[in-house]
Amino acid sequence: MLYFVKSCDNPGETVPGKSSGVAILTECASGNAGLTALIVEDDQAVCDLLQKIVESQGYTVVVCTTAASAMAAFAADFPHLVLMDWMLPDMDGLELIRTFRVSERGQYLTLLMISGKDSPEDIATAIAAGVDYFMAKPVERKVLNIWLSAASQHVRDCLQREGADLVLAKIKEDLEDNNLQLEEALSRANTMAMEAEQAYIEINQIFKTVAGGIVLVDKHCNILRCNDSFLKMAGVKRENLRAQKCYEIFHSCLCSTEGCPLQRLKKGEKRVESEIEKEGPEGTPVYYSTISTPFKGPGGDLIGIVEHITDITERVKAEKSLAESERRYKELSLVDELTRLFNKRYFNTHLQLEVERANRHGHPLSLLLLDIDNFKHHNDTYGHADGDRVLARLGQVIAESLRVNDVPCRYGGEEFTIILPVTSGEQATVVAERIRARFAGEIFQPTPQETVRKTISIGVTQYLAGESGQSLLERADQNMYEAKQSGKNRYVLK
Ligand code: GH3
Ligand code: MG
Ligand code: MG
Repeated sequence: MLYFVKSCDNPGETVPGKSSGVAILTECASGNAGLTALIVEDDQAVCDLLQKIVESQGYTVVVCTTAASAMAAFAADFPHLVLMDWMLPDMDGLELIRTFRVSERGQYLTLLMISGKDSPEDIATAIAAGVDYFMAKPVERKVLNIWLSAASQHVRDCLQREGADLVLAKIKEDLEDNNLQLEEALSRANTMAMEAEQAYIEINQIFKTVAGGIVLVDKHCNILRCNDSFLKMAGVKRENLRAQKCYEIFHSCLCSTEGCPLQRLKKGEKRVESEIEKEGPEGTPVYYSTISTPFKGPGGDLIGIVEHITDITERVKAEKSLAESERRYKELSLVDELTRLFNKRYFNTHLQLEVERANRHGHPLSLLLLDIDNFKHHNDTYGHADGDRVLARLGQVIAESLRVNDVPCRYGGEEFTIILPVTSGEQATVVAERIRARFAGEIFQPTPQETVRKTISIGVTQYLAGESGQSLLERADQNMYEAKQSGKNRYVLK
């Protein structure tokens, strides 16, 4: 809004209480407290008059007589109202106005030009330069007061506008902030979506390419996801998965037992490895190895389990056939594993041969039957494993006490036989005594604190022409029995 007030020819002083201008003056003076006015005027007399009138309106007044000092005052303390002359000693007043207007708060400034240059063209030029109000010189107090009232309203409008602009600017800034945050959230969501997509592709790839079946089972035995290999193993179509529980689709020997991987992982185990057996399509057994691990949600809570299942039927078959050949090999074997002496099977065959040979050549043939004394007590006291050590040691003592043609055998349990070809019963007692004495000298240490000695009883007998090997063996056994009966740790020859 532009106010153009032409000065009167007869300027007069206003008299408080006598004219309507008084009311305006009083009203304005009380409303302008805290406002600042800058007067830029090089004519000292005009300056003084302006200062007086403006101060009477309630303004705090700063007076400058040059444009340079006015610019400094403007920068130091932003005035709400500027009253200025056009013709200044150091600058064109319009130039100064433009400087004010382009400053940060220039748009909230109320500017009144008071000049003697007051042709319509001059006024138009001043308005174009940014002047709000124009008043021609000379200054007439009454007119200036009226005009100042209007300018003061303009000042208050400017302050209000500035306040509103500040609020708007704050709202705009907040909105921009919100926008920025929204954009960031959107960008993060996009990144997460892309990562999820990537993870999905990778998981699909793993499901497709991994050797064996992979299946995700929830805590209630529902299959959440599986690969084609699993479907093939289970012999089920993907569309039929949903309707059934895992144990209905792939029933293993562990279902409904303590060994069920889901139950074990639910109880807190971190990893369960098991081998399961299932009946194959033709009724033949199929074997699988399964590795089960917990399937946890983002919060670490157990959602279900992941099972990796591998068909190990070929491996199990190979292991079984290996075990079977080992068993058969042992069956065919002629050597006792524990003592490294010949076994009973070899003894039976070989005794027959030696009996035939003795009959054919008329050579003497003797047989020893050895039995450890009180061996049950040793086993019961020190354990079976320690008993085995005693047996193995006796095997060594026997082996070290014989000639090459003699045939030492572990007949069974803690009984040993020794076939002595071309040996008489008398000569055989020498061997029996040697073994008895050596073994009796052995010291065993079943516990760190204890030492034990063991003894043997031996039945010695010589082959009688024409009798069977069985008869020879029975006599040796009777002699051994007699040795036991007569006090043990000895031999008996009969
Ligand atoms: P005796 O003096 O009358 O021969 O008494 P014994 O306790 O030695 O005889 P018995 O026949 O009562 O016990 C023989 C024991 O030999 C019983 C069995 O536990 C033990 N035995 C048999 N074979 C083995 C084996 O391979 N290892 C071990 N450690 N002990 C065996
Ligand atoms: Mg015995
Ligand atoms: Mg015994």
